[in-house]
Amino acid sequence: MDIAEFARRIPKAELHLHLEGTLEPELKLALAHRNNIPLTETTAEEVRDTYTFTDLSSFLAVYYPSMEVLQTEDDFFDLAMAYLNRASAQGVRHVEMFFDPQSHTSRGVQFSTVIRGYRRALITARRSFAIQGELIMCFLRDMDPSFAMATLMEALPHRDWIIGVGLDSDERGNPPAKFAAVMARARAEGFLVTVHCDIDQQDSAEHIRQAIHELQVDRIDHGTNIVEDRRLLREAKSRGLGLTVCPLSNGFVSDAMKTDEIMQLFDAGLLVSINSDDPAYFGGYIGDNYAALAKAADLTREQLTRFARNSFESSWLSPRIRDHFLEEIDAFVAAHPD
Ligand SMILES: [Zn+2]
Repeated sequence: MDIAEFARRIPKAELHLHLEGTLEPELKLALAHRNNIPLTETTAEEVRDTYTFTDLSSFLAVYYPSMEVLQTEDDFFDLAMAYLNRASAQGVRHVEMFFDPQSHTSRGVQFSTVIRGYRRALITARRSFAIQGELIMCFLRDMDPSFAMATLMEALPHRDWIIGVGLDSDERGNPPAKFAAVMARARAEGFLVTVHCDIDQQDSAEHIRQAIHELQVDRIDHGTNIVEDRRLLREAKSRGLGLTVCPLSNGFVSDAMKTDEIMQLFDAGLLVSINSDDPAYFGGYIGDNYAALAKAADLTREQLTRFARNSFESSWLSPRIRDHFLEEIDAFVAAHPD
């Protein structure tokens, strides 16, 4: 087994994955057909050609209109099942998946339609693909905090199906502190909290500081710019905060995968995990991200194993189940020596 194959197959958890970002061109066409939604594109190739961007804003300009094809509970079920099937084939044993209810409720789709489809997929996949998971509800930071609060209230009847809340979408001018009240309420309702701190934003380090100090986050999504601030870095380490980095996604919104920064944080002992973000748009699922970083940073099997362990250690699993998955990693490594 070569290093790329080892990277793809080692048991792992995925902690940074947007379900709406798993909409492959073929499924987009099929759902458009099923729901009688006219599309300009008629082939998967044509849809794929529209999946091109130069930065976060141009990505979001393609990303949100694509969701129009998601209408019924079955659509959300099919989207999640397609992802869970692919993730399982790339070694994912546990996934904590983001979903963006506001991008659906704002166009007239019911909250319950979205979450029932996703929840049913998680339960079905547990038996079909030997993969398990949880849902994290994200708020869109480029919408008003009052909409986020209303969404939180709408989610409460489904609270047992949601492990935590997150914050995503366009960070420019939308710092974490803007959502401090919503996140405090979410925490009081028993949800764990994670926040996107995207790559090379204006005031990146200040946003990370707000996430840690003002929002009391349990994890940070991306957060690679913490490398610029020694004090924050030490603090994140002492709090055991996970950083969910996404190498292939980084390559789309910045000049590179941020390999050097990721490895500096990894070598400093932070709980850095490798994830796929929006795999249908960024050219690879999680195993492809492991393999890409392995190539770029010339990773050893020991380092890849540490990344995989980090993914479970910064997950929101109970210690007993986490330990079970860590033992699976040990068994995999023992069965595939150098
Ligand atoms: Zn993300």
